[in-house]
Amino acid sequence: MKIRVRFAPSPTGPLHIGGARSALFNYLWARKNKGTFIVRSEDTDLERSSRESEHNILEALRWLNIQWDEGIEVGGEHGPYRQTDRLGLYREYTDKLLASGHAYYCYCTEEELEQERQALTAKGETPRYLGKCRQLSAEQRAALEVEGRKPVVRFRVPDGQAIHIPDQVRGDVVFESNGIGDYVIVKSDGIPTYNFAVVVDDISMAITHVIRGEEHLSNTPRQVLIYEALGSPAPQFAHISLILNTEGGKMSKRDGDTAVIDYQQKGYLPEAIVNFIALLGWAPSGEEEFYTLDELANVFSLDRVSKSPAVFDRHKLDYINTHYIKESSAERLAELALPYIDELGILPYEERSAEQQQWLISFINAISEKISHLSEVKDFIHYFHGDIPLEPEGEALEVLKGEQVPSVLTLFREKVQGTELLSGETVKVLLKQMTKELKLGGKFVYMPVRVALTGQMHGPELYDIIPLLGLKNVLGRIAVTEARYLS
Ligand code: GLU
Repeated sequence: MKIRVRFAPSPTGPLHIGGARSALFNYLWARKNKGTFIVRSEDTDLERSSRESEHNILEALRWLNIQWDEGIEVGGEHGPYRQTDRLGLYREYTDKLLASGHAYYCYCTEEELEQERQALTAKGETPRYLGKCRQLSAEQRAALEVEGRKPVVRFRVPDGQAIHIPDQVRGDVVFESNGIGDYVIVKSDGIPTYNFAVVVDDISMAITHVIRGEEHLSNTPRQVLIYEALGSPAPQFAHISLILNTEGGKMSKRDGDTAVIDYQQKGYLPEAIVNFIALLGWAPSGEEEFYTLDELANVFSLDRVSKSPAVFDRHKLDYINTHYIKESSAERLAELALPYIDELGILPYEERSAEQQQWLISFINAISEKISHLSEVKDFIHYFHGDIPLEPEGEALEVLKGEQVPSVLTLFREKVQGTELLSGETVKVLLKQMTKELKLGGKFVYMPVRVALTGQMHGPELYDIIPLLGLKNVLGRIAVTEARYLS
């Protein structure tokens, strides 16, 4: 059997982490089995869906390098891949269900339905549709139509049936048909509901496995009944667990970033996001934590997907991203860091001189081990750019009060002025010489120089800072410190 899986987002907002994980698991399952991965769009919520959201979701998938073999923008034999372009097909399937008696027209008004719901609730029963329109005759229907009522189409739920869902993650899950009530499959405007359209799509696209979020488990019995009514075997289901925040609550916007684009904008690397979300619910068999997309495709399996909730741990994500930052070339990181540096107006975005490019690369090299995502470059730029240090406070201010400080800074100035080329190497030598000449322990030399230049006790290495600042800025910063704190 050729494996065919799909990702079917509703284009009503950005791609969220949970959606990205569903897409990834489907993608990996397809790759692993040399199958086909399809991306289509469930855009029947006409008010909330937009092409812009669809575009953004596709862009996010592309950014993650999750490529699809068939579907929107790619095409394929089973298109069109947008539900609003498939209304004719849903009509055909609706007609089949109407003809076989598995579905019927319902003319109940919203008020009538509300009354029924309230009556059931009052009796302590689950509110559901009890089938008032199940047996309407042609004459009754005609009379209701004359009244101007527009019908919905409901699925006739069989009584007393145990609906078995063999789920690859959860085992055999059983629902009772009695609690369900006849549900709407086509709304009065002719638009199919999710539970119906998704089944038609999965049948007509020959989907073999449905891998999706656990929140859809309760929809699945409704879908299974439709498969049965249409005489089509249901695909294999795999419902993947919810993603919780570290407090154990459902991940929501309040927990910060939930959309893939949020992470892209903060300068996370796509391979880190992929690696991180793969581990949200799937566990490798060994100890290894770092996996590229290709490696994941080799080792992924549905039986290592856990049914317990996954926890979204931002520290873990940062840890994984840090790993991939270390693996990346300075050229790539420089390219990715540019938008943040550009925000500060420090370097031209395009057409940098060779010198500026070199500065950028050296800057990245100096800090790449210290950042967990690229927007953090902004926090470091003050060490390397401009002729005014940050204002020292607390301990840093104390450092400048040392009696040796004026002579340290004077000698430092002389040394840097006398150095032909300020490089990491020459700076190392120069600082060493200073300790010898002044007969001082390293700390008494390096700390005042560091504070005078940066205003901070800690930070990147002095031998990175000094060449990147350049002679002019170094002298400027020393002068500012002397004027403000030593005179
Ligand atoms: N549009 C649904 C969602 O975004 C798809 C559910 C499914 O995969 O069946 O959650």
